[in-house]
Amino acid sequence: MEKLVYFDNNATTRIAPEVREAMEPFFDSLYGNPSSMHAFGGQIAKHLDRAREEVAAFLNCEVDEVIFTGCATESDNAAIRGAADWYGKDLKIITTAVEHPAVLQPCRRLKALGHEEIELPVDTAGQIDLEQLREYLKNANGPKLVTIMYANNETGVVFPMDKIAEICKEYGAVLHTDAVQVAGKIPVDVKKIPVDMLSMSGHKFHAPKGIGLMYVRRGTRLKPFMLGGHQESSRRAGTENVPYIVGLAKACELARLGMAEEAVKLTALRDRLERGLLAACPNVRVNGDTANRLPNTLNLSFEYIEGEAIAYHLSDLGICISTGSACASGSLDPSHVIRAMGVPFTAVHGSVRFSLSRYNTEEEVDYVLEKLPPVIKRLRELSPFGPDKDITTFQ
Ligand code: PLP
Repeated sequence: MEKLVYFDNNATTRIAPEVREAMEPFFDSLYGNPSSMHAFGGQIAKHLDRAREEVAAFLNCEVDEVIFTGCATESDNAAIRGAADWYGKDLKIITTAVEHPAVLQPCRRLKALGHEEIELPVDTAGQIDLEQLREYLKNANGPKLVTIMYANNETGVVFPMDKIAEICKEYGAVLHTDAVQVAGKIPVDVKKIPVDMLSMSGHKFHAPKGIGLMYVRRGTRLKPFMLGGHQESSRRAGTENVPYIVGLAKACELARLGMAEEAVKLTALRDRLERGLLAACPNVRVNGDTANRLPNTLNLSFEYIEGEAIAYHLSDLGICISTGSACASGSLDPSHVIRAMGVPFTAVHGSVRFSLSRYNTEEEVDYVLEKLPPVIKRLRELSPFGPDKDITTFQ
């Protein structure tokens, strides 16, 4: 591909060169098993310890509260199903309508198995009503698991995790958060915001795909998801993926040191893109709470046209964006997140997400600002729907 403007960083990111370099020796000379008795294994175990210390510094937690997993989907499942396994049928599960399928699917499965499960709705800005959460927890007897994402992958809307944690504490609920999209974008401090469990994924912040982590506060009641060996304090059996863990730790270090500066850059780029597109295209709406949004994410609805058509046309121009979540692609159903926000029917199908990273530039933003408006104009001309057309049959 000649030109590549990659604005799909909430789907996955490029591996940082520093991360690749840190991993390299573990594919070559440092191949031992950290659980082995011999000194070579012990040497690898030391690297594993150092990686765990770096992740603990990133989250401000203790080293024994960090568990390495295969991906965030595993971390989410391990937290939700592990809590249900411990507490049994009495466990009540509270989540939101806009979670990633890695949370929604296990919650719905537990509901099918007889657990009480509720999905809090969101308002037009994509925010939940904290009073509704409080009311539910106040009236629910027995053990309760609240699983609410830190930030939404499609809109970038950040939930008020400090207030959510406060309410959960008040009513003795266990709190898990899918923090996949905040990793490397906004600081996460589990001492300041006392969640009990948290999930993250390496490939969303410049480490490779296939490595995830879980934070589990000391004392949290949880049955292990993977059974077998005693790795990861018997919380997650299986030989650790040392090269990828080292890469993940490096990504945490880069994020810890560079996040503040990066957020300023990302906000400026994202806002330039947003301003430019709103000025150049009529009938566009920004989806999500713009006052509480990840610095890198922009979700727009171009009314009267299909988001998929926009993404295909941009793809031909070397520009990568997405509609809905990547896991749901292949389906033309509008995104469950955008639908849950009550976006009007003229706009719900036309939603697209731009998500930036540290590697994007102003030139790339300007390239999109040059190429996208004519695409929108052409698609609108072809569309049978529009403010001056008969839109009554639009589904
Ligand atoms: N949770 C959120 C919010 C995500 O955006 C994603 C990936 O898109 C996941 C979970 C799943 O992460 P992984 O690909 O590591 O399983």
